[in-house]
Amino acid sequence: MKNFICPYCNHRQGVFNVFKIKPNQEFNCEKCNKNILPKFNSKIEKNWNKTIGIGIISSYFPTQISLFFKIDIFISLLVGFLVGLIVLISYTTFVYKTTFFLK
Ligand SMILES: [Zn+2]
Repeated sequence: MKNFICPYCNHRQGVFNVFKIKPNQEFNCEKCNKNILPKFNSKIEKNWNKTIGIGIISSYFPTQISLFFKIDIFISLLVGFLVGLIVLISYTTFVYKTTFFLK
């Protein structure tokens, strides 16, 4: 089984579908429109709500820490944004590589 590929037509789903799919919720293949069920890495599936929380916190805390040390507000926000972006890219890559679709 290959990651992120429809089991019916072998079409690789676009990477941005990482944000559309949810555990135990069917998804329509972009190409053949059949219902396929995402099978996540078990760690992601168990910690689904936490994963979203970590994403929010990871961009919130750097901003707070920067503010505490009286770093310029613009730089603080930039730091928060960059950390958030890194977490987001890592998360997307991880889900994309570890998620399979079942019939
Ligand atoms: Zn398909």
